[in-house]
Amino acid sequence: MEEKQIYNCLILGAGPSGYTAGIYAARASMSPVIYTGPQPGGQLTITTDVENYPGYPEGVQGPEMMEDFRKQAERFGTEVKYEVIEKVDFSGPVHKLWTTGGQEIHAHSVIISTGASARWLGLPSEERLMNKGVSACAVCDGFFFRGHEMVVVGGGDSAAEEAMYLSKISPKVHLLVRRDEMRASQIMQDRVKNAENIEIHWNTVIDEILGEEEVEAVRLLNRQTNEKTVLPVKAVFVAIGHVPNTQPFKGWIDMDALGYIVTKPGTTLTNVEGVFAAGDCQDRIYRQAITAAGSGAMAALDAERYLSEKGII
Ligand code: NDP
Repeated sequence: MEEKQIYNCLILGAGPSGYTAGIYAARASMSPVIYTGPQPGGQLTITTDVENYPGYPEGVQGPEMMEDFRKQAERFGTEVKYEVIEKVDFSGPVHKLWTTGGQEIHAHSVIISTGASARWLGLPSEERLMNKGVSACAVCDGFFFRGHEMVVVGGGDSAAEEAMYLSKISPKVHLLVRRDEMRASQIMQDRVKNAENIEIHWNTVIDEILGEEEVEAVRLLNRQTNEKTVLPVKAVFVAIGHVPNTQPFKGWIDMDALGYIVTKPGTTLTNVEGVFAAGDCQDRIYRQAITAAGSGAMAALDAERYLSEKGII
């Protein structure tokens, strides 16, 4: 019987952390294979200009940057497979994983870099007007609507940050908070409350986003009075948190209450030997392309040390 191939280094996810792990692992002769997951390129593929990634003085389009990352990983021999892992078994020294198609894969080391996804409101109008005024990233897309009134949904630090950012390019920002208080840190709350052109709408949610080809207005619902009002705006920024893409690893890998993978401080080590985590799936604070890439490099170095200690490479 033919023996099943065991990959030295299997990388899950193809965002900045996964591709960077691929570059490092390939250059260390670990023959890495990336399973991209459902969104090759990750969250950067749904953004436009990236201006804060060092090395691109003129800025770069998110999808183009991810193409560059992929090419660089492939140049050193990283294999990229456009498949999704839906199940794992980390009980033995050889890690087992299954694709959505049911194919079983074996690996000595696994780097989880599956990222996080923005949480959405779940309205059909939100989906229809996505990238036509509906966005989850003010820093990415706010510029396109500068000079117009905008809405930010959420009461956490992200929403507060988005509102502050937009208040510099918009005449008026409407911050919709679904309760009568914000979850954001006090300092961020103070900032939005003191900003002259940010209006906080308490106990308010979006009932519907209006417009056919682009956002024209939002219909607001006051949850206390049940009153509905229409507010003309050009853009809606949803900032109600992120969900880490860690579902397949539940029960195997230690996670916090929100589902973010817990790594040993200062490393990418998880509770399972030979399984490492990098990027947004283990980082709910920084969530930047550059920090994700940095931890991807760390994961490859940690995996390399593990494989050589085990005498595998
Ligand atoms: P949070 O989970 O902290 O906040 C989410 C906000 O969205 C809450 O106000 C929540 O309301 C609201 N919300 C959730 N679902 C809905 C919905 N369906 N409709 C309307 N509102 C909704 O997420 P953040 O992304 O803001 O922050 C995540 C973590 O990252 C936090 O720990 C935060 O402190 C940190 N962070 C830190 C920053 C910094 O330090 N500069 C910047 C950005 C984030 P409710 O309160 O009612 O649940």
